Amino acid sequence: MNKHVGTSVSGAEGEDLSKNSEIHLDAGFMASVAGAVGTPFYCYSPEVIARAYEELSAALSPVDVSICYAVKANGNLAILQLLSRLGCGMDIVSGGELERVLEAGAPASRVIFSGVGKSASEIAKALVAGVHQINVESPAEFHLVADIAASLRRRAPVALRVNPDVDARTHDKISTGKKGDKFGVALSEVAGLFEAAAARPEIDMVGLAVHIGSQILDLAPYRHAYGVLADLVRDLRAKGHSVRRLDLGGGIGIAYGAQGAPEVSELAAIIDETLGDLGCALTVEPGRWLVGRAGALVTTVLYTKEAGDRMLAIVDAGMNDLMRPALYGAVHPLEVVRSAAGGEGQSYGLVGPVCESSDIFGLYDGLPTLSAGDLVAFRCAGAYSASMASTYNARDLVPEVFVSNGRFRIVRRRQTTAELLALEKDTTWHDIASSQAP
Ligand SMILES: *Cc1c(COP(=O)(O)O)cnc(C)c1O
Repeated sequence: MNKHVGTSVSGAEGEDLSKNSEIHLDAGFMASVAGAVGTPFYCYSPEVIARAYEELSAALSPVDVSICYAVKANGNLAILQLLSRLGCGMDIVSGGELERVLEAGAPASRVIFSGVGKSASEIAKALVAGVHQINVESPAEFHLVADIAASLRRRAPVALRVNPDVDARTHDKISTGKKGDKFGVALSEVAGLFEAAAARPEIDMVGLAVHIGSQILDLAPYRHAYGVLADLVRDLRAKGHSVRRLDLGGGIGIAYGAQGAPEVSELAAIIDETLGDLGCALTVEPGRWLVGRAGALVTTVLYTKEAGDRMLAIVDAGMNDLMRPALYGAVHPLEVVRSAAGGEGQSYGLVGPVCESSDIFGLYDGLPTLSAGDLVAFRCAGAYSASMASTYNARDLVPEVFVSNGRFRIVRRRQTTAELLALEKDTTWHDIASSQAP
């Protein structure tokens, strides 16, 4: 059983949450939408997303840093449209995300293609679309990008993602910038690849990228990584290479509970102090920070029961809908949207219906008495929540809904089991020797 103690949004501890979690999803609205679309569903506030974007761009504009949203945090089309219209660029990690951002109307010229395992067809699609930059993560990928660009008679704008060997002091499963992590090119290999680029005219080596991890609450690792990057730029320039752009990654953490989160103005100051004098075009790629606080997963209590010395509330959302607790022991703040019995001071383990012992959202104290039919919401579920959902246990993907100004808009409808079953129908045997299996 997950030993983390969650935090109820209501009550004294909720005061601590308000500053950084900017909760503007009204419980009454969530209850009405639950009546209209059924549970579970994801509920988002477009205002909270827009405000986060405006706050970040205001903090970063004095240091002239542009923003590309890390689509993997939440790739819903309506969210991409919203951010794109506000002027935000996009950071993608797959061909599917490329299709998504283009469908949302984002210009390819504002798209950065990141990721450690891009396939040849994804690289080709990105070059044909005309993306702003491809962040290359290995010598082998560098040569593949060059070969594909040559065959397409295009020039590939490439930045090298370097592994700065910095500990982001976050969860092991979301740390990406330490020596031995799978991401990026070792510092010792960077100059050699800049040399190699000089011999490959189809590569336009534009600069460097770093991304040290996610949910980073202590900004010191950024200072460390950006310092390493600045030294690298000076070293490359001394060797005669041009370094025009720096992509500074994402990873800025948000407050999921009572713990504080960093101020983006402090990050801006660190960028200015470490990299401000290099004359490079700067970009950051936040995902969680822009959308994490803007969402909630609303779910109905199906049953309560005793298990040993504790009470469990079994809800209709499971680890397939919201995977972060099972994946990294994350605890989302819980809000009781509607409790028939009322009361206070109760403790429950909130668990889902999936047949896995890890399908546990956490232990929560200070709750009213819960009973079947009550509604609860896991807050701060705008990032790495719907985007990580699966259909495990043949559970259909749940709807996503925008709530704004007393209205709601379904931005992804509920999947049906028939849609999933359709993928498995009309199957035929193919002769392996003579067929080109798809
Ligand atoms: C995931 C990722 C991001 C965004 O991380 P957040 O923690 O959501 O800000 C940015 N850049 C790269 C390369 C990533 O893989």
